[in-house]
Amino acid sequence: MDNFKLTVLGTRGSVPVEGKNFSIYGGATSSYKVQAGDEEIYLDAGSGIVSSLPEKNSNITILLTHMHLDHLVGLPFFVALTQKDRPIEIFAAERVGLSPKAAIDKIISNPFWPCKIEDYPAKVSFHLLPKKFSIGQVEVDTLEGSHPKGSTLYRLTYNGKSIVHATDFEHNREACAALAAFAKDCDLLLYDAQYTAEEYARYKGYGHSTAEEGIKVAERAGAKKIIFVHHAPLRTDDELAEMERKAGAPFAKAGDEYFL
Ligand SMILES: [Zn+2]
Ligand SMILES: [Zn+2]
Repeated sequence: MDNFKLTVLGTRGSVPVEGKNFSIYGGATSSYKVQAGDEEIYLDAGSGIVSSLPEKNSNITILLTHMHLDHLVGLPFFVALTQKDRPIEIFAAERVGLSPKAAIDKIISNPFWPCKIEDYPAKVSFHLLPKKFSIGQVEVDTLEGSHPKGSTLYRLTYNGKSIVHATDFEHNREACAALAAFAKDCDLLLYDAQYTAEEYARYKGYGHSTAEEGIKVAERAGAKKIIFVHHAPLRTDDELAEMERKAGAPFAKAGDEYFL
């Protein structure tokens, strides 16, 4: 099987939103499904992951960028967790001295949630994130991004095509140079454009970027396509359409599919 496809399950930043102003770009938080042959790889487990029905025989992996709630809030509701003995591999970096399992246990346990992840019918395994590894035929490269307490950037390569996921990324000289090298000649770059340039001046240090900076990085990297992700929670459909028009590149919408 040669398919290599990314589906946007949710791309809202910070917190899920709902209502008529958010019906086009969607209100679910960060989660993207990458399908490559038999591999089904989820980039983050925000509320977007809840609506994904896993393939019957796929190998499921979840790659977490970091443990901020908007990237994790969908995990307790992920359908595959309810499937008896279904293997699910979760990879994440150690952050603030906590292993991936220890961090997740803080959220998925009483009093925040009535059970722990090992109480689900699925067979979940946790892995400390290597710098570089493979999931079946998919090569995974990682880079530490620029975000409060860190966030992992991922590059997934399959059949000579690459997707780079750069969410919860704040631009600065050094971080952009590293990202441009990391994303060199990629086919699809997902880039955090939570802020307009004007807003960014007020939110410097919050760990997010702008479409203008994304375009610069994409050009430097020679990325074939860029899409903007992690939309500000209260950004309306009309405002996002306007930002898209100004940027001349798409802002991701929940349900979008990209074939590579
Ligand atoms: Zn986030
Ligand atoms: Zn974050």
